[in-house]
Amino acid sequence: MRYEAPETVESAAVLLAGTGDARVLAGGTDLLVQMRSDIVDPALIVDIKGIAETRRVTEEKGGWRIGAAVTGAELKEHSRLRQVWPGVVEAANLIGSTQVQGRATLGGNLCNGSPAADSVPALIAAGAVATLAGPKGKRDLPVEDVMLGPRKLALTRGEIVVSFLLPPRPPRSSDAYLRFIPRTEMAIAVVGAGVSLTLDGGGTITAARVSLGAVAARVLLVSEAAQAIIGSRLDEAAQRRLEAAARAACRPIDDKRGTIEFRITGAAGLARRTALIALDRARTS
Ligand SMILES: Cc1cc2nc3c(=O)[nH]c(=O)nc-3n(C[C@H](O)[C@H](O)[C@H](O)COP(=O)(O)OP(=O)(O)OC[C@H]3O[C@@H](n4cnc5c(N)ncnc54)[C@H](O)[C@@H]3O)c2cc1C
Repeated sequence: MRYEAPETVESAAVLLAGTGDARVLAGGTDLLVQMRSDIVDPALIVDIKGIAETRRVTEEKGGWRIGAAVTGAELKEHSRLRQVWPGVVEAANLIGSTQVQGRATLGGNLCNGSPAADSVPALIAAGAVATLAGPKGKRDLPVEDVMLGPRKLALTRGEIVVSFLLPPRPPRSSDAYLRFIPRTEMAIAVVGAGVSLTLDGGGTITAARVSLGAVAARVLLVSEAAQAIIGSRLDEAAQRRLEAAARAACRPIDDKRGTIEFRITGAAGLARRTALIALDRARTS
């Protein structure tokens, strides 16, 4: 097995496109586990952490650009980002343990291709756009379009996720992420919900995005759930509409971690609770 650590996205793209079974390495918390379990056996590992663009958090066009190889722990240390996008930062910091959070990256969480990945619903709710780079250059793709199904990505051969752009935040905006797991930590989400919203001066929701994880083959952007609360102050009736829309969007599997019915019911309640947290944060942001 060959190991390379290029310092530019162009060199990474050439390496990845030129070898049949090449894998990107970011934090390695999925990749190394899969290698040790003989699930994958790459001929080439391309470590992207030496590429500066993947490792920084910068303000851009009034929003924030987060490198794909920035870790959850690093996001947590970023006080301004934590203030503007608390949901994204809290989602990244639900991944694994303190040790895992020191390695695990947003890019790795998305590109591992798990429908239960914790940071992905938060990124989708945030309206994050992924910047990809490959042999044909750079392109942008909304995060909800990157993952097509379990372990299936829209990335073409040689492409990597370089960074994510979070849009500018109007006043009275915030976000939140909640997940249900059967214990307090170190478990895969049975259901996850991300909500981002903006209020007008009177407390009415003027914009919202709702995303659900672990209830379908890919993480869902649930536009109907957002529409259900836009124009409301998230009163009881709006909460019921949100729950109904979340419930209707779910297409979960039935497994030992949760039945179909449990996941659907959980998604509805979790979407409501997450929206209430985002609302509370937006009122004081
Ligand atoms: C003990 C433990 C607990 C965990 N708990 C959770 C949890 O609670 N929630 C959760 O969501 N996950 C959890 N995970 C899974 C894992 O930690 C996360 O998915 C993590 O975010 C992966 O990031 P990474 O940087 O380590 O990815 P890596 O392992 O480096 O990469 C993961 C995959 O993505 C590809 N890849 C990585 N970065 C890029 C990129 N920029 N462009 C293209 N492809 C890329 C790699 O080739 C690989 O296929 C856990 C893992 C462990 C070992």
